[in-house]
Amino acid sequence: MGNQKHHHDGQYRRPYAKKSLGQNFLADPSYSQKIVSALGILGEDTVLEIGPGRGALTGLLAERAGRVVAVEIDRDLVSVLRDQFRDLPSVEIIEADFLDILPTEVLGDQVVPGSIKVAANLPYYISTAILRKLFDHRHLFSRIVVMLQKEVALRLAAQPGTSDRGFLTVLVEHGFDSEVLFDVPAGAFRPVPKVESAVVSLTPKSSQPAGFDELLVELASAGFRQKRKTLRNNLRSATGRTARLIESAGGAEALIGACGIEPNARAEDLSCDQWRALAREVS
Ligand code: SAM
Repeated sequence: MGNQKHHHDGQYRRPYAKKSLGQNFLADPSYSQKIVSALGILGEDTVLEIGPGRGALTGLLAERAGRVVAVEIDRDLVSVLRDQFRDLPSVEIIEADFLDILPTEVLGDQVVPGSIKVAANLPYYISTAILRKLFDHRHLFSRIVVMLQKEVALRLAAQPGTSDRGFLTVLVEHGFDSEVLFDVPAGAFRPVPKVESAVVSLTPKSSQPAGFDELLVELASAGFRQKRKTLRNNLRSATGRTARLIESAGGAEALIGACGIEPNARAEDLSCDQWRALAREVS
């Protein structure tokens, strides 16, 4: 009865959690500690945080890192965070949609590739898009530690021949060495979410020749389009540039054969090396 828009909490009036922005705040500090420890921060490190929320990770990051750049979309939270960290010049709170910015815009053009650490308890409604963005800019990062919906974390680790394997699995396997570090129960968040979570570490692999990623991403995204279909049929129904690439390799059947892949294989059966072979074949 009579829900107020804000409630009083210590010195801050904290805005209520917005479901539409995936706001489930980490309320158990032992998990915040574990996430931050997993980043292995050294004193001079710069950490990019995506979605700092109420600062469950931000304060711990600030204690360890030389610089923390935290990107938060919610204006109400941004003003609370700016207030909270006003005496710490090493913490920058940026109000932005992470999907709309380039990491170098907020980190600065002088950022040393391979030097940035990323921490995020991701808003689950856009975790795939954020992982895709981190993949595209992975040359900047030395390590990424992200909290994901457990189901997504397991999908990232799914082996060839299992139905959990999908486009995101291939993307992450191609770009990173990944490890599922630990589970986080729903009860560790406020409000309590409907799903279980897990924390994953991603370490970028050395980058591929220019343009190779795009080919691999195009083929995998066409190959997984309809999961019940064979890879061959999915590639046959590709359109646009992907269709032309496949055509120039002699068509779907020839392309698959040239890579030593079973004619009736499904996308989920392929190893990352087989996706790379397909991309090389059309390059
Ligand atoms: N890091 C905090 C924690 O662990 O308690 C908050 C995690 S909460 C799951 C996700 C946060 O991401 C929320 O603060 C939400 O407002 C923010 N967020 C949602 N969409 C975003 C976007 N597109 N760009 C930046 N932040 C976003």
